[in-house]
Amino acid sequence: MIHTKSFIFTLILTVLLLGCTRESAIQTADKVNSIVHLGVMADCQYADQPDRGKRLYRRSVLKLDSAVNEFNASNLDHVIHLGDFIDTGPENYDIVLQKQQNLKIPMTHVLGNHDFSVPDSLKHKVPSYLGLLKRYFSFYIKSWKFIVLDGNDVSLHAWSKNSPKYIESKNIFEKLYSDQPDYNGALGKTQLVWLKHELEKSELKNEHVIILCHFPVLPEGSHHQLWNWKEIVTLLNNYQCVKAWLNGHNHAGGYDKRNGIHYVTFKGMVDSSENSFAKLILSDEVIKIIGWGREKSRALILKK
Ligand SMILES: [Zn+2]
Repeated sequence: MIHTKSFIFTLILTVLLLGCTRESAIQTADKVNSIVHLGVMADCQYADQPDRGKRLYRRSVLKLDSAVNEFNASNLDHVIHLGDFIDTGPENYDIVLQKQQNLKIPMTHVLGNHDFSVPDSLKHKVPSYLGLLKRYFSFYIKSWKFIVLDGNDVSLHAWSKNSPKYIESKNIFEKLYSDQPDYNGALGKTQLVWLKHELEKSELKNEHVIILCHFPVLPEGSHHQLWNWKEIVTLLNNYQCVKAWLNGHNHAGGYDKRNGIHYVTFKGMVDSSENSFAKLILSDEVIKIIGWGREKSRALILKK
């Protein structure tokens, strides 16, 4: 009788222990699955043209080459370029896209303002040059969700002058944003509704979300912000799932934190003779930025 009791007790204990071990194994697997290694570049802005101030346009192709080599050796999941792959002239796409071919890791482009510095007749083709089927979209890397925005949605540079989008953009700019630099842009109403919907879905699933855009919304006062940055920051404040907004455009770089969301501006690759790019490690607790060249290394603690 005693033997039977002790056997049952041992059996229950074993089942409980096995259950716990299995649970912790699943948790460990989940954690490993949530770690993402990312390569980030901003404003390569290549052009076969003379330097202008700090902008060394021809040198960008060498810097891109060296970033590609570093990324290839780094066991990354994905590489992001945060906009302005070229400075101006559609012919300049040939050489940077050729260099991109050497990358052995999937790469996603974000649309920048300079990417549209092509003749009016070619503006609609820019997303396809950069391998984009849509101008804004979301995708997953492991358990992390990335929302790619088009800050040129409402803009005076991204649409041909005779298109309805240009006429609409011009009206919106003149009515609401004429005190702001005309080289920036805004998210249009349809994109904002889409963004809200994406965030609602992620909030319900308790996901980790990173937003990618060429333009910053914060910090204030840099003359580089999206025209409707206030509306966007107010929207993001409602969502616990949003961990960071990553952008380029302001070559000097920048950082702000609002409501636990990290707003990071990566430095422009085109500036100066020293390179600038980064490797990011995203985990449940922290985003580690390992800076290369002028980009500084830091750790951004995530809000819970
Ligand atoms: Zn830009």
